Amino acid sequence: MAQPIHISAAAKVLAMSKDNPPAARVPQNVPVSFETMDCFSNSLRSEQDLFSSVGWECINPATGPVFIEGAEPGDMLRVDILDIQVAEQGVVAAAPGFGEMPDSVAETTRVVPVKNSIAYFDWKTANGAVRRELPIKPMIGVIGVAPAGEAVPTGCPDSHGGNMDCKRIVKGAGLYLPVNVPGALFAAGDLHALMADGEVVVCGVEIAGLVTVSFKVIKGKRWPLPVLVEGEHFMTLASDKLLDKAATRATRNMHDFLVQELGMDQTDAAMLLSVEGDLRICQVVDPQKTARMELPLAILRACGYELP
Ligand code: CA
Ligand code: CA
Repeated sequence: MAQPIHISAAAKVLAMSKDNPPAARVPQNVPVSFETMDCFSNSLRSEQDLFSSVGWECINPATGPVFIEGAEPGDMLRVDILDIQVAEQGVVAAAPGFGEMPDSVAETTRVVPVKNSIAYFDWKTANGAVRRELPIKPMIGVIGVAPAGEAVPTGCPDSHGGNMDCKRIVKGAGLYLPVNVPGALFAAGDLHALMADGEVVVCGVEIAGLVTVSFKVIKGKRWPLPVLVEGEHFMTLASDKLLDKAATRATRNMHDFLVQELGMDQTDAAMLLSVEGDLRICQVVDPQKTARMELPLAILRACGYELP
């Protein structure tokens, strides 16, 4: 891989906005590395540092934005995740009032050592500690472009991407986003060494790191977005204040893709999704919740459909 263009974490934004000045202009099809802070701006260094001590101005910084040459409103942007490196220590935080069990958690910071791609946990039980040694699966929580209208805080996901917290945005994935403004103004941050679907306590293993991506602008095509390709799946992602609505939109977006792009009959496409499409939860703890519909890539291949 050629030496990537480097974007330092000093170039940080707290909102995805058309008014953010670009940290750099970057060409397509070259590697670009984003140094990222964790979602607490790296401020929880020990178990004595608590979530409530972190100011809102430090939550969910994203590195960027970069202006992608040739990206114009109406285009699609493909972001290829070439690599994700993470630091040697992550953190999981809980605080009353947050997450799915807001009245069942005490304010707690758990430092998670990461060595040789293994994350170490000790969970207390009546019979002593249960030690878990888990291979990390580094993923990107916040990744997106500027929306066309009002700025959106980096903590909120929507059709422009943002804080989708989808555990399948990993090395090797391709993420398709809309281009809403000239240059797209892409930014990313909020890495997790590990995160489960739901992110129910409001944190994964939050960690600083370095994300390397490349960009490709696709002219003349606009799918229902965002779309993610990873492993053996093609996925539509959608976010809404209500999880039900996010789930419906993720499903409808996939249905629209099957009808528009593969020329499927509407009823066949709906039945196919009921048989082979897995509807899953990305996260339920951000200002909007995110769902995804996963379809086997084999279906696209069987149709001879080539991804741009
Ligand atoms: Ca997040
Ligand atoms: Ca996070």
